[in-house]
Amino acid sequence: MTRNCKALEVPLTGDSTQCLGQGGGLTTANYLMNTLLNKKTYAIFGGGRNHPKSHAERAKSLPTLCFELVSKQKKAWQVLREGFEYLKEVRERNLSCRGFSVRLQYNPKRITSSMAIGVERNRKERQCFLCLNHLPEGQKGILYRNNYLILCNPMPVLSFQFTVSHLDHRDQAIAENIDTFFQLMDDFGSGWTVLYNGPKCGASAPDHHHFHVAPSGQMPIENEIREEKKLTLMKQVQDVFLYRVKDVGREIIILEGDDRMAMEGALKNYLKALKKVLLIDEEPMINIAGFYKESQWEERKWRLVIFPRRKHRPDAFFKEGDDRIVVSPGVIEMGGVLVTPLEKDFERLDGVTVESIYEEVSLGGKIAEKAITLFCKEQSA
Ligand SMILES: [Zn+2]
Repeated sequence: MTRNCKALEVPLTGDSTQCLGQGGGLTTANYLMNTLLNKKTYAIFGGGRNHPKSHAERAKSLPTLCFELVSKQKKAWQVLREGFEYLKEVRERNLSCRGFSVRLQYNPKRITSSMAIGVERNRKERQCFLCLNHLPEGQKGILYRNNYLILCNPMPVLSFQFTVSHLDHRDQAIAENIDTFFQLMDDFGSGWTVLYNGPKCGASAPDHHHFHVAPSGQMPIENEIREEKKLTLMKQVQDVFLYRVKDVGREIIILEGDDRMAMEGALKNYLKALKKVLLIDEEPMINIAGFYKESQWEERKWRLVIFPRRKHRPDAFFKEGDDRIVVSPGVIEMGGVLVTPLEKDFERLDGVTVESIYEEVSLGGKIAEKAITLFCKEQSA
């Protein structure tokens, strides 16, 4: 398979693992890529033969390596240092809505991300900020399982938010990357959340595949879905449980189970069911938060919180003057942390407006029900 490394404007052939080391048979493009990757690699996790870093370093847990990366990057990279200082200054306030709550976050630095222009225009007009050769001078990451670089996010919404960016410039997509999604949950372990934004509903780089990872417990929805009265069990097949969440103001599906393969299959089936119901070939608009826990009493190992979407932004985003509300919901917003880069929005948003925004951008009840019915049928087949 040929991978297009747009960053270098030279097609790289073969697996990126071959770019590591400087053995014989490397093309000039691969050699350049390898040199750049070595320069940008702080540490390696789970692979990377021929790389000079020690075995002891490879044996460290992924969260340990990530915290070390933050600590080193704060010293070496001024932008990150400022980003951490800045996060202390963001203002937050809680809003009560019908049956749930959200936390508004006034975060002016997120204006670029919130206002990000459409995918096509974006592709033509900007340099991809996740491509290796466009990373800022001081930025380094953890080479993750040969194909991804884990990077500190200099403009985070959540504390210790990392971006897990593919080494190749390739479109954002979940179906062909489900394995990595689960592997990340497994490698980070309990206490961490892996986040996915679809290319048309929250991904800040829709043309460069990536995930986000952050410590758990920062989004209100994580507690709300622990209330049993909010969960309706829709289906149990092969030890995968599908719940629909009610009284949270937006459509939320939960998949839970102990068997990783069965869970991966269930997510694929749910995506297929959505596509069929929506009569589309491309990826359905979706945000996902994934959690992994060592099995405890009455807890299942894997939990996916899925937000099927109808729109990326509410109509109010496109209005002019005072009618405009700059909110651009991605997975963190759907999880209950609503970022408002403009102070006037932070001050004026109320529970009723937030409820209407969630309703507008979430997949409608009837279509969501159809997808669940189809999913249940296919899971049983
Ligand atoms: Zn890129």
